[in-house]
Amino acid sequence: MTYRFSEEAKHHFAEVVDNVAKIGGWVSDLATQRIIWSNQTYAIHDVQEDENISLDEAINFYLPEYRDMVREHYFAATKEGKPFLFEAQISSRKNHIKWVKSHGKPILNDQGVPTMVVGIFEDITQQRKNLDRIVSQQQFLQTIVDSTLEGLVATDKYGVIKSYNSAAASIFNYDENEAVGKNISILMPAHHSTRHNAYMKNYQDTGINKIIGIGREVMGMKKGGEVFPMFLSISEVLMQGEPHYLGTIRDLSKEKENAEKIEWLSNYDDQTGLPNRSYLQSYLSKLDANIAVSVVTINIDRFRRIYLAYGLAQSNKVIKYVAERLQAFCAQGEFISRDIVDRFWIVLKHDKAENRDQLTATISEIKKQLEAPICIDGYNHYITVSIGAAVSEPSSPHTALLSKAELALHETKRRKTSIYVLYKHTDEHAEILDAYNTERQLREGIENNELVFYLQPKHDRLGQLVSAEVLVRWQKPDGQLIFPDAFIDIAEESGLIHQLGRKAIESTAQMLAEIHTIDPNISLAVNVSPSQFLSDDFIDSVTDIFAANHVKLDKLTIEVTENLLASDFALLKEKTKLLTQMGIKISIDDFGTGYSNLQRIQELTISEIKIDKSFTWKCLDEQGSKLLNAMVNVGKSMHLGIVAEGVENEQHLDILRKMGVDTFQGYYYSKPIPFKDFLKKLA
Ligand code: C2E
Ligand code: CA
Ligand code: CA
Repeated sequence: MTYRFSEEAKHHFAEVVDNVAKIGGWVSDLATQRIIWSNQTYAIHDVQEDENISLDEAINFYLPEYRDMVREHYFAATKEGKPFLFEAQISSRKNHIKWVKSHGKPILNDQGVPTMVVGIFEDITQQRKNLDRIVSQQQFLQTIVDSTLEGLVATDKYGVIKSYNSAAASIFNYDENEAVGKNISILMPAHHSTRHNAYMKNYQDTGINKIIGIGREVMGMKKGGEVFPMFLSISEVLMQGEPHYLGTIRDLSKEKENAEKIEWLSNYDDQTGLPNRSYLQSYLSKLDANIAVSVVTINIDRFRRIYLAYGLAQSNKVIKYVAERLQAFCAQGEFISRDIVDRFWIVLKHDKAENRDQLTATISEIKKQLEAPICIDGYNHYITVSIGAAVSEPSSPHTALLSKAELALHETKRRKTSIYVLYKHTDEHAEILDAYNTERQLREGIENNELVFYLQPKHDRLGQLVSAEVLVRWQKPDGQLIFPDAFIDIAEESGLIHQLGRKAIESTAQMLAEIHTIDPNISLAVNVSPSQFLSDDFIDSVTDIFAANHVKLDKLTIEVTENLLASDFALLKEKTKLLTQMGIKISIDDFGTGYSNLQRIQELTISEIKIDKSFTWKCLDEQGSKLLNAMVNVGKSMHLGIVAEGVENEQHLDILRKMGVDTFQGYYYSKPIPFKDFLKKLA
């Protein structure tokens, strides 16, 4: 019996296992209930080869969750003669968890009854691991491909779409099933796809690369035919030896929309939809200089009152109303613009401004229409407007009309009587305009670093160069050098003096740092305007700027004019004391020309007085020299240093030296010179 079994068993072993290495085999003899394992099967279970294993033991190697399944398969084979194949996990004798594949086949006798089950048994742990990795890698790549915001479309060399990600689906509105297998031309409008095909063909034929790797803006087409701008870049990839093309697509519609929106916002007023001031400016600058135009500016009187009384929403409605009325009036295409809150502009080109009478008639009509009651939410608002106008002149650019009209408007408001004022050239107007233009240009000039700082040397009683005064110059882009007398007052009035003053301090610190590499004893004096001196952050900013340039403060002199003495004296006392404690010297500039309150000077901690050049020049006449003498003596009595400016010749120098002046500045020694020329004097 045993003999017969083993003969048959061997036979079936050979048939099933077929000499495959590493694959184990097993036989279950249903009559004897015995189980036979091949060596490989023992090895997979980490069991010694001489051990007898029962059916239950064999099944118990499987992890509990698989055991029912294994039993079902086994009994189906033994009872119903059904073969089986399954994959499951076992825990080996050494407690190693392994994936195995078990294949069983019942052997039937002549009556068709199963007498044994034979099987093969394979350790597939490694295969499983590889598979898991592949699956997870593929999933990973797919996730990347799907989550990129750019559309990805891969085609073969014939342009047939092979793969297509979800971003592409949302760009083109075709889903993956609709797109894959179709020609890429479904994603482009006809003329683009013809061109695309020609490009691709040319590239494949000649290798001449017009599109690969280079992104281009092309038109794409969505399902349904909507055409849109897209950015396409194509890369070539080899798949199974065949070239494929991977297109990366970005939908540009949104970006274009945003760009248009930004462009719009920079040229239009969001609230009324009218062109803004900057558009008005460029409109006028592009307008043919030979066309006669009138620029009219309109201001709603006391508009703030409406805002304060009724709030933002209501006052915005008023603005909208005014804008609409203007638009209705200017139906012939006159250029209308809205400036700051309550200010509008009209450029009249047509017969509406052909002559003075015509212009007056036009403006009266505008005024009448704008001042009609404005009914908002059942409530009447009454507004009045002030109007200024300017008519173009052949010699001057159209853009100059803006400030002229503004000036005229100013005049209308002042007079309170007329319908409007037309700008007329008067000296006073010209002056205001000049100041206005200078201020605008100075603002830009400061931003564009057009300020340069010259140095004028100061010499001691022995003729030694000991110091210099920092003097600002405005170097226009065309090379023109403008002297401070032409812009310091405007800078003061407009507040630009703060920016200017900061630049002066910065420049002083930088120059001192460089000068001290040659001669560490030289000091510099910088002019500081009263408003700059009194500003809260003045001391901090000087400290910071000098620290940043690694320069000590004890070689810095601050020149302030006598006018400063008229300001808050307690504050002044505190500031001068603080500055002196920091090592900074304070010099009273233009001494003798203004508010000379000796009492006050005495109470302040200052270092020197600087005699104005107008006094220096009088030193040759008797009266003048008496005055000078008195000034020097006053200074000496207060133990102050005495500096004289405007020293133009040897006589000046001689007299002043005899009087006891310590330091001399003027053309006799040197005019103010550029920094690099000053450095040459030191070397
Ligand atoms: P200031 O402080 O009285 O400066 C002296 C002015 O007299 C300088 O004119 C200088 O060039 C001129 N000057 C010096 N020696 C002679 C001379 O021997 N003969 C003649 N005829 N003139 C002489 P500048 O540079 O035109 O400055 C004019 C004014 O501008 C200065 O008067 C000062 O008040 C102001 N300034 C210059 N730079 C600055 C600055 O950076 N900040 C401030 N706040 N003011 C400045
Ligand atoms: Ca000065
Ligand atoms: Ca002076």
